[in-house]
Amino acid sequence: MKLPFFLARKFVAAETLQEALPIVEGINTQGLRTTFDKLGEYVSDRAVATSAKEEYITLIRTLDGAEGRIDRNISIKLSMLGQKIDEAFCIDNLHEVLTQAKETGTFVRLDMEGTDITESTLSIFERVYPDYRDNVGVVLQAYLKRTREDIDRMCEIQARVRLCKGAYSEPESLAWQEMSTIRDRYLEFMEILISKGRFPGIATHDDILIDATKKYVADNGIPNERFEFQMLYGLRSETQKSLAREGYGMRVYVPYGDQWFPYYTRRLRERKENVWFILSTMFKR
Ligand SMILES: Cc1cc2nc3c(=O)[nH]c(=O)nc-3n(C[C@H](O)[C@H](O)[C@H](O)COP(=O)(O)OP(=O)(O)OC[C@H]3O[C@@H](n4cnc5c(N)ncnc54)[C@H](O)[C@@H]3O)c2cc1C
Repeated sequence: MKLPFFLARKFVAAETLQEALPIVEGINTQGLRTTFDKLGEYVSDRAVATSAKEEYITLIRTLDGAEGRIDRNISIKLSMLGQKIDEAFCIDNLHEVLTQAKETGTFVRLDMEGTDITESTLSIFERVYPDYRDNVGVVLQAYLKRTREDIDRMCEIQARVRLCKGAYSEPESLAWQEMSTIRDRYLEFMEILISKGRFPGIATHDDILIDATKKYVADNGIPNERFEFQMLYGLRSETQKSLAREGYGMRVYVPYGDQWFPYYTRRLRERKENVWFILSTMFKR
C-alpha cells in the first residue's frame, strides 16, 4: 500500500525531479546552499541499481544545466548503487557517477547508512577518493563507538566529512544510546574536524551543538569559510536563514522522489514534535 505524499511533504520537497527543481532553486535564492538527494535505499536488484546510477547522472546533468542557479551538490546512498549486491558492481557504478561529477564540478556526498555497511562505505570511499578528491565526501555518525578512529582515518587523507549524530537503530554494542554521550562525542569530533579536517559539514538541528560550534570557532579565530552548518529540508527553516544571515555557510539537504517512506519514518522517530506535525496535517485535510 502506498501512503499519500501529503504526509511526507514537510520533509520531502517533491515526488519528481521536475517538481523539486524550483523548490531547491528557491532555497538557493535565499542565500542558502543545498544538497539534493534522490530518495531510495537498500536496492537488491541489479537493474534497479543501474537505473539509480542513471538517475544520479541525470540529476548531475540537470544541475549543470541550471547554469549556477542551483548548487552542484548531491547526496547519494551506496546501497542504491548495488553495495549490498556486489561491491565491485557498486564501485563501477560510483565511478560513472563521479566521472560525471568531476566533469561538471559537482560535489557528491556519500550518505552513511546502517552499521551493516559502515566499513564497506568507508572502504569504497577510500578506493575512489584519490581520483575525485574535490568531488566526493563522506559522512561519519557521532553515535557509533568506532567513529573516533574513523575521524582520524578521514582527517589523515583530508577527506571532506559531514558529521551527524546518526539516524539508524543500532545495538548498544556498536552505538552510544544516551543523548548526553552522543552530544559529548559530537562535540569532540566537531573540534577535531574543524581544526584538522577539510571543510566539514556540521549537520545538526541541535542548538547545544550549534552554539558550541560557534563558540569553538570564535574562541579559536577560525574563519567561517573553514566549515558549514547543514540541516534537513523542512526542519528549522528560520534558524537556517538566521545562521546564513550571521555569515555562516548553511546547506540544506533536500530529498525528493517517490521512495520517501524509510526517510520519512526516520524523521518521525527522531522527534515527537514531528509526529504531532504530521497528525495535525492529517486532521487539517
Ligand atoms: C544535513 C543532514 C544530513 C544527514 N545525513 C545523515 C546520514 O548520512 N546518515 C545518518 O545516519 N544520519 C544523517 N542525518 C540525520 C542525523 O544523524 C540525525 O538523525 C538528525 O539530524 C537528528 O539529530 P539532530 O542533532 O539534528 O537533532 P535531534 O537529536 O533530533 O534533536 C536535538 C535537539 O535539537 C533541537 N531540535 C531538533 N530539531 C528541531 C526542530 N525541528 N525544531 C526545533 N528544535 C529542534 C531540540 O532542542 C532537540 O531536543 C543527517 C542530518 C542532517 C541535518
